[in-house]
Amino acid sequence: MSANLDRYYFTEEHQLFRESLRKFLEKEVLPYINEWEERQQVPKSLWRKFAEQGFLGFHYPPEYGGAGLDFFYTVVFTEEISRVFSGGFGVIPLVTQYMSTPYIYKYGSEALKQKYLPPVIRGEKIAAIGISEPGAGSDVANIQTKAIREGDWYIVSGQKTFISNGYYGDFVVLVVKTQPEAGLNSISLLVVDLDSPGITRNKLRKLGWHAQIRQSYSLTGCACPLKTSSARRGRVSSTDGGPTAGTARGGYRRHRRHRTPHGLHP
Ligand SMILES: Cc1cc2nc3c(=O)[nH]c(=O)nc-3n(C[C@H](O)[C@H](O)[C@H](O)COP(=O)(O)OP(=O)(O)OC[C@H]3O[C@@H](n4cnc5c(N)ncnc54)[C@H](O)[C@@H]3O)c2cc1C
Repeated sequence: MSANLDRYYFTEEHQLFRESLRKFLEKEVLPYINEWEERQQVPKSLWRKFAEQGFLGFHYPPEYGGAGLDFFYTVVFTEEISRVFSGGFGVIPLVTQYMSTPYIYKYGSEALKQKYLPPVIRGEKIAAIGISEPGAGSDVANIQTKAIREGDWYIVSGQKTFISNGYYGDFVVLVVKTQPEAGLNSISLLVVDLDSPGITRNKLRKLGWHAQIRQSYSLTGCACPLKTSSARRGRVSSTDGGPTAGTARGGYRRHRRHRTPHGLHP
């Protein structure tokens, strides 16, 4: 982006945030990224360090642990994460923050938000989004994974594939059909803890992006409690629920304390 456009979109506070994040990535990520690609694993303790600096979930409101920061902080985050030149690394926080948890924030009950958003923002949990299936990628209407209500539970069965954070993550926002005979109208979202009984996870072999392991799942009779999984029937939505617009400025102050000169990849 040209210097003029930079000034148009980004305030001094955005720039301070950028400098602070860049410095953090130089210290905590860049020296180790090749090793993580080799080992196919990013240490989970890293996300707590991200959180301590206020780099996770800053777009969510303070009641969930965020800072209510505006969309351009997200732009800065995405640009700086991309400078590490590891798609496998970058996709972990990007999927967690902007592709998976926005559905919980936008459509979830208050109980669901309280259960899942604060641990993500504290860097304790990683999230995945489970849409694609072996027979339904871009054809989402054709998904076959079912969640059938039995008393206070949904019993989930089906298969998902190509799931980023699928192996590494702690929970998945799963796209299911709650009444398969109703077709498209029964497409729903269900939050499923990935250590639930009935889930078999298989790592996928890939050509690159090894720091993040993509995965396929088989779900056979996986039982999800109604109260804390909160399927929302009949809604199909895009991943646009992410950044919340806001003007709260508290979050940047801690970044000001860590202000440092640019120094990653010019
Ligand atoms: C790096 C990476 C990460 C991913 N992470 C996730 C994830 O976290 N969660 C998840 O659920 N999925 C994930 N996916 C899967 C991804 O969303 C799917 O690959 C995508 O939806 C396409 O599905 P498909 O591969 O089955 O291709 P297909 O649906 O088979 O499509 C193949 C091609 O045909 C075209 N096509 C399809 N239907 C039509 C039509 N009717 N008319 C004209 N053209 C058509 C498509 O545009 C495409 O070019 C990931 C994929 C990649 C590469």
